[in-house]
Amino acid sequence: MSNPQTTPPPPTTKRILLVKYGEVALRQGNRGFYEKQIMDDIRRRIKSLHTGNIRVFREQGRFVIEDLSGDLDTDAVLPLVQTIFGCIAFCVGIKTTEREMGALRQIALEFFRDKLRGGSFKVASKRADKRFPLTSQEISADIGECLFDNMPGARVDLHAPDTVFHVEVRNHVYFYVTSVGGEGGLPYGSAGRGVLLLSGGIDSPVAGYLAAKRGVSLIPLYFHSPPYVSERVTDKVNDLLGALAPYTGVIPLRVVPFTDIQLYLQEHVPAEKLTIFLKRAMMHIASHVAAAEKALCLITGDAVGQVASQTLQSLAAVNSATPLPVLRPLTTMDKHEIIAIARRIGTFDISIRPFEDCCTLFVAKHPENKPNAQVIERMESRLMEIGLREMILAAAEHALTRS
Ligand code: ATP
Ligand code: MG
Repeated sequence: MSNPQTTPPPPTTKRILLVKYGEVALRQGNRGFYEKQIMDDIRRRIKSLHTGNIRVFREQGRFVIEDLSGDLDTDAVLPLVQTIFGCIAFCVGIKTTEREMGALRQIALEFFRDKLRGGSFKVASKRADKRFPLTSQEISADIGECLFDNMPGARVDLHAPDTVFHVEVRNHVYFYVTSVGGEGGLPYGSAGRGVLLLSGGIDSPVAGYLAAKRGVSLIPLYFHSPPYVSERVTDKVNDLLGALAPYTGVIPLRVVPFTDIQLYLQEHVPAEKLTIFLKRAMMHIASHVAAAEKALCLITGDAVGQVASQTLQSLAAVNSATPLPVLRPLTTMDKHEIIAIARRIGTFDISIRPFEDCCTLFVAKHPENKPNAQVIERMESRLMEIGLREMILAAAEHALTRS
C-alpha cells in the first residue's frame, strides 16, 4: 500500500478566473508593491460573497481566482473585480493540475470544442514554466492538431483566425478563449491621497474617477452654501460618490460650510471677479484639509476654456492659492468626451439632476475671463487681513471635524 503522504493528489480541472494586469507588471522596482495592492483589492471585494472558499494567488504575471471547493461562480465574481484599477483583462477559463500532454490535449478538446466562433482558429500558447518539456510552439501545434482532427469543419488560420484558443503553462496549465477588458490604470491608493473638489456637476466626478484610476485615493470635499443651495445637492454629491464606489470603495464626503465666505466675498469684491475669489477660497480650504489628511494634491474638474473661470488666465489666477499640485484630468478634453466617460461610469444621470450649485448661483452676468493674477492676489491678501483668513480656517476646521 502506498503511503498517503507521498501520493500526489489526482489531477483536478476546474473553472477559474484569470486576471491580467498591465502597466504594473512593467514596473520592476515596485512590482511586488503593486501586485500586493491588487491582490488585497481582489480579496476585499470577494469577501462580500460570503463564501470562505475562494482564494486568490499569483501565477507568474497573472492572478488566479479559484474556488477551493470546485468551479468558480465567475458570473458572481466578475462584476465585483472588474472595476479594480490596475487589472487590464479577465479571462474565464479552466485550470488544470494535469501536466501530461496526452491528458492536456483531451482537456483542451473538451473545453474548446463548443467555443469556435466562425470557421477558423489558432492555438496561442505561452510557456512561463520553462521546465515544461515542450516549447510554446510545440504545445500550440500539438493541441491545434488534436482540435483540427476532432472538430469537424474547423480550419486553422494562423494570421486572421476567427477564434484564438489560449493555452498558458505556468505552475498549472490554463485554457481560455475570450477576455473582458479591465479598467487599466494603477491600483487605487498606490499613488497617495488627493483632495477632490467635488461639486454636483458633470465634470468633477469624472476628474475624480480619472485621478483614482492613476492610483490617487480620494478625499472628496463639497462646498455647500445653504440656504442658497438646496440640501438636496449634498444628497446628489453623496450619490455621485456612491456611483464611484465600485472603483474607490465607500468614501465619506466632507462638507465645507461656504455660505459665509460667499456672502463676504460678494460684498467685498467686484461682481466680475467674484468667481475667481470663490475658487481661490476653495483652494485655500482644500489645501488646509489636504495638510491635515496628508494628501499630496488637489483634483478639480476644470477644462481649459469651458467657462470664463477656466481660461488659462483664470486657472493661473486660481493656482497660486495652493502650494499643492492641482490635478486637472479633464483640462484638454471636450465636453462630449467628458460626458462619454460620465455615462460609462454611471455619474452622468446623477449629475444632470437639476439643482443649483454655488458658483452658478453667485456668478456674474459678465465674469472677467482674463484676470490678472497679481491684481487678484493683492486684493485677496488685503481681505485676508480683515477677516477672510479666519473664515477660511474656520470652514476648513468645520469640514475636518464635523463630517
Ligand atoms: P463641475 O461640472 O465639476 O461642477 P463646472 O464645469 O461646473 O464643473 P466650475 O463650476 O467652474 O465648473 O467648477 C470647476 C471645478 O471647481 C469643479 O469641477 C470642481 O472641481 C470645483 N468646484 C466648483 N464648485 C464646487 C463646489 N461647490 N464644491 C466642490 N468643488 C467645486
Ligand atoms: Mg459645476
